[in-house]
Amino acid sequence: MAKNLLQKVWDAHTVRQLPNGQTQLFIGLHLIHEVTSPQAFAMIRERGWKVAHPERTVATVDHIVPTHDQSRPFADALAEEMMTAIEKNCRDFGLKLQGLDSDHQGIVHVIGPEMGLTQPGMTIACGDSHTSTHGAFGAVAFGIGTSQVRDVLASQCLAMNPLKVRRIEVNGELPPSTYAKDVILAIIRKLGVKGGVGYAYEFAGDAIERMNMEERMSVCNMSIEGGARVGYVNPDETTFKYLQGKMHAPSGEAFDRATQWWKTMASDADAQYDDVVELAASEIEPMVTWGINPGQSVGVGESIPDPASLSGAESTSVQEALEFMGFDAGSPIAGTRIDVAFVGSCTNSRISDLREAARIVQGQKVASHVKALIVPGSRQVLEEAESEGLNEIFVDAGFEWRGAGCSMCLAMNPDKLQGREVCASSSNRNFKGRQGSPTGRTLLMSPAMVAAAAIAGEVMDVRQVECGV
Ligand code: SF4
Repeated sequence: MAKNLLQKVWDAHTVRQLPNGQTQLFIGLHLIHEVTSPQAFAMIRERGWKVAHPERTVATVDHIVPTHDQSRPFADALAEEMMTAIEKNCRDFGLKLQGLDSDHQGIVHVIGPEMGLTQPGMTIACGDSHTSTHGAFGAVAFGIGTSQVRDVLASQCLAMNPLKVRRIEVNGELPPSTYAKDVILAIIRKLGVKGGVGYAYEFAGDAIERMNMEERMSVCNMSIEGGARVGYVNPDETTFKYLQGKMHAPSGEAFDRATQWWKTMASDADAQYDDVVELAASEIEPMVTWGINPGQSVGVGESIPDPASLSGAESTSVQEALEFMGFDAGSPIAGTRIDVAFVGSCTNSRISDLREAARIVQGQKVASHVKALIVPGSRQVLEEAESEGLNEIFVDAGFEWRGAGCSMCLAMNPDKLQGREVCASSSNRNFKGRQGSPTGRTLLMSPAMVAAAAIAGEVMDVRQVECGV
């Protein structure tokens, strides 16, 4: 019977069906970091257990790592405690840690793919919501909670509820200056932040197929923001080419054998789906969020919605968002003054993101009232950017060039908004308080749009810079 990728990967990793309707799945790769692992290790210790598959467990440090001064001990005692804990836990349980002394330290969803750990047909788990990123390779990747981190450490298995599959087809040509970030923001706007509850999202269509792996990662990264449990793209030649030569990818004949198997894991042409949704790529424009969830977005040429034109819960949620943001209903989003510009996070901190931002800022100056940060997702991205001279372009323009980490995406480190600041951000969440200030305001957009906003000092249409629109 024809199957989609989710069904194939699910079946290949099923240990057994549980009496409560869940499936016990074997997890091929467990990625851990310093924030959601300490309690899980404590529970393992209490019971005298071991880590079942240390060779399938890889640790990094990202959330609490300062991106400015990384000398130890950290100024923040809690951050230092978490850092010390993951170092000890990895030592005690025999796990590989990509710590601050490693060339591969960085955001967990950036380093997995760049090290070749993330591969098609895998099941992957990590104690971070945006684990869906790894689905870009045709993996089924779950963001999990601390007790599930314990379960995977102890058994390399997870008990999971069955999922429906929605195929989201994006066909046609994306307009100039429109990026993967705009595609996923447009999808979430259309389907809602809860539209994907109970689903896996299969991203397909020729606009997705033309995307490179970094673009596919940006799309899959934000599946969770649309409520989907996982998101994936079927593996293809783009995937295989990206993996060839990566440190942990198979090599030689083993790579050829792996490629043959990876191909079989892609959805069959006549696979069945629980739902199919289509979007025309040509209708997507550069997107900006104006509210307090990633579904509250508009094209940069549009205006902020008016709750009076809506009804029921939708009207109430728009009203709440407008009150928090301090924006006027019906006013254009372009021209909104910003205080901070942030290019970073596991959504948009890879080399192609930095290249796009650098292209916009080259020879320009950051507006005098704007604090602007560029935070590479990993040491590898940082080194590649420096070898291309991108850091000099950013510094000349007035950006701060930082070390690798999550930085202002979640602000569990010194990079935080202050008071009511407005931040043009390439990250993935615009919830109240997300960037470190309970009253801070986040506008999500592509790295190119962040770069344009940093220069203009306000939200602007990047097409005016790039295409003279
Ligand atoms: S960059 Fe943000 S979303 Fe991504 S892993 Fe770090 S805190 Fe989580």
